[in-house]
Amino acid sequence: MLTNNLGYPRIGSNRELKKASEQYWSGKTSQHELLQVGRSIRQQNWQLQKAAGIDLIPSNDFSFYDQVLDMTLTVGAIPNKYYDVILNHNNSELDLYFAMARGFQKEEVDITAMEMTKWFDTNYHYIVPEFQKDQQFKLFSTKIVDEFYEAKQLGILTKPVIIGPVSYLLLGKEKEEGFERIDLLKNLLPVYIEILDKLKDNGVEWVQFDEPFLALDLSEKEKKAFNSAYTEIRKQFPGINIMVATYFEGLRDNTQLAASLPINALHIDLVRNPEQLDEVLNALPANLQLSLGIVDGRNVWKNDFKSSLELVEKTVQKIGAERVLIAPSCSLLHSPCDLDNETNEKTLSPEIKQWLAFAKQKIDEVKVLKELAIGNKDAAILEKLNQNQIAIEARKVSTLIHNQVVKERVKAIREEDAKRKNPFSIRKQKQQEALNLPLFPTTTIGSFPQTTEVRSWRAQFKKGDLNKQQYEDLLKQETERTIRWQEEIDIDVLVHGEFERNDMVEYFGEQLAGFVFTKNGWVQSYGSRCVKPPIIYGDIARPTAMTVQWTEYAQSLTSRLVKGMLTGPVTILQWSFVRNDQARSETCNQIALAIRDEVTDLEKAGIKVIQIDEPAIREGLPLRKADWQNYLQWAVKAFRISSSSVADETQIHTHMCYSEFNDIIQNIANMDADVITIECSRSKMELLDAFAEFKYPHEIGPGVYDIHSPRVPSKEEMIDLLKKAKAVIPADQLWVNPDCGLKTRHWDETKKALLEMVAAAKELRITE
Ligand code: GLN
Ligand code: ZN
Repeated sequence: MLTNNLGYPRIGSNRELKKASEQYWSGKTSQHELLQVGRSIRQQNWQLQKAAGIDLIPSNDFSFYDQVLDMTLTVGAIPNKYYDVILNHNNSELDLYFAMARGFQKEEVDITAMEMTKWFDTNYHYIVPEFQKDQQFKLFSTKIVDEFYEAKQLGILTKPVIIGPVSYLLLGKEKEEGFERIDLLKNLLPVYIEILDKLKDNGVEWVQFDEPFLALDLSEKEKKAFNSAYTEIRKQFPGINIMVATYFEGLRDNTQLAASLPINALHIDLVRNPEQLDEVLNALPANLQLSLGIVDGRNVWKNDFKSSLELVEKTVQKIGAERVLIAPSCSLLHSPCDLDNETNEKTLSPEIKQWLAFAKQKIDEVKVLKELAIGNKDAAILEKLNQNQIAIEARKVSTLIHNQVVKERVKAIREEDAKRKNPFSIRKQKQQEALNLPLFPTTTIGSFPQTTEVRSWRAQFKKGDLNKQQYEDLLKQETERTIRWQEEIDIDVLVHGEFERNDMVEYFGEQLAGFVFTKNGWVQSYGSRCVKPPIIYGDIARPTAMTVQWTEYAQSLTSRLVKGMLTGPVTILQWSFVRNDQARSETCNQIALAIRDEVTDLEKAGIKVIQIDEPAIREGLPLRKADWQNYLQWAVKAFRISSSSVADETQIHTHMCYSEFNDIIQNIANMDADVITIECSRSKMELLDAFAEFKYPHEIGPGVYDIHSPRVPSKEEMIDLLKKAKAVIPADQLWVNPDCGLKTRHWDETKKALLEMVAAAKELRITE
């Protein structure tokens, strides 16, 4: 029996990579220094896993930005415009890579970044590969081989992790008509063969191909592609152990296909889909090894050794211990690094801490599970089982978890609690009268730059160097400046700027009962951006108002409309580590009621426009279509519960980012928000088509510029985008706004960009 890991967090347990990348991008450090940080993180991760007793330690799970972009660079699928960055600017391969990820603006060169989207149903974002009809591939970067060699030099023979050829193609996007990207497999495979050749020369024994798509709904053609890809790889490399890793879903109807692939080991996710085990075991041919993903790579709860061992024992009985590997369910990229770093008992009590495990602890769990499974009777190992069961039992009966009042209130939710008083057509008129907005009203998505200063105030406040009064005074000044500046450039619906918020979920979680926080539980979201998801451990309640004070203050400064800014129940759920002892829908309803109370209080305080952000509603969609309706039913209803207490005159906005809406547009409409703002600019308004086709009846603000890049857009390009929007959506339904919040941007970029944006809206008003 082997222990197997699919991937380790690469950001560093103190976010070393984030800091180093940002320093490099801002020109403060050299590339050499950045590369050095990368090397040292890799080395630490490998050594940690080796010391913990992991047999199959991954390499190439490290990335300076994103593992899909790494693959794109590896196979040379580099859109032409980016070569300019290297050819004419004397830049390195790494700069080319960052230009693809972040865009490039220097002197007269101005190149936008590649599109970014969510990695399956996680909050991790990857850079979408772009394919042309006659797309050619060639080995461009040898990162995979280099990192394998680097580990080997350290005395560790790793298992390189490569995104499998079928999933790589499926992750991408056709950039022209007339072909299907899966048809590119024959062009792509030779590059994989070349990589494997080099790995073989360097003595590789195991290679892990990540093929998450193998656990999703597949067309016949895609199924065939899996067959031909792995048949070819097997033929060329009979001596390398090939593992195909699936995760985030069960194999279900693809079980036969997966079991018939000519590979050595198959990895399955038994946390997400434990039911698949029986079927997989029945289908498994005699030579295939099975990697059991039993330690949750997506959540923070301590593994329940007893129930995991039941799965392992069942497998061992059926196929024998030699064919079993013990593993986390998926890459630990989605777990925080190290629970040992959580030493603040005030924020994370020892009682709750003992229920948790982060990446480093999960690695240990994998090892202990293996020892227990092979019957190791060492006192130390048995004691670990004992301690584990004590923690598991303690959590089940803890009084911290249950709040009867909340449970009753959820049970008592009625249909009418999820309905506005009147339909949109009536609300629209009343809102027009109450709000008196121009055509193409301008607004922003909520946050304004979180400068180093703003962050340092929060840090000082937390440390006690600023008292509450001082801290809040500083935030008020920043809010006032932001309100004044929005008035000055003539934005129609203002925001207070969200300076008091560290993060759109954490801020709410901190004020709700049932949540706890880590100090250092960071998880990579995209590039250098990390999030620190709160942990929902118990029933959720709202002891006091959470945002009213700030919104009310901002509104008191101006006669213009100030939009109240909330995070929606589905997003709070989706971006937290959620308790695994009750249905997600139940937890979501508890959050919905808390947000509903906040909405009610904002309205009482005189706020006429309230935005409830639901950027995560689409990413929460189950990966298999068969499961969609059930999810959408409770998720949409939760949003409606949160938003329906208000009068017709009060305008409810929602906001979503990076979303392909085609297939759920009906459900988005069912959310019944008066205005929706969406991310659109990187897709050149393509995302709007779904709304146009559906004849989306409510108002809509398609983002007119990309906020993930420091690039300043011009008025003309925004007018172009808005004209595109206007061609498909009636003008009186359109709003003008950026793609998303501006907190990661600098003030100078933000000011320039928004000035251009307001000018674009004004010019359109004249021509309309
Ligand atoms: N209101 C949030 C902000 O502006 C929305 C962020 C998001 O959609 N991710 O930061
Ligand atoms: Zn957004």
